[in-house]
Amino acid sequence: MFKIQIDKEKCIGCGTCAAVCPINWEIGDDGKAKSIKDEIEDLGCNRLAEENCPVQAIKLMPQ
Ligand code: SF4
Repeated sequence: MFKIQIDKEKCIGCGTCAAVCPINWEIGDDGKAKSIKDEIEDLGCNRLAEENCPVQAIKLMPQ
C-alpha cells in the first residue's frame, strides 16, 4: 500500500502527471494536480507521475 502526497505549494500545474498517468491524475479547479485515489496498492503509472514531475511535488509513501 502506498499513500500519495502532493505538495500543492510546489505544484506548478504543468499537467505532466495527468499526461503520463491519466488513470489517477487530473488537474483540479485550483489549477493544481490532484490524485483520484490517494491510497493505492500497485504503483503502476503513479511511479511515472512521481518521476516526471518537474518540481518533485509528488511523493509515494510506503505504508
Ligand atoms: S507533474 Fe508535478 S508540477 Fe506538474 S501538475 Fe503534476 S504535480 Fe503539479
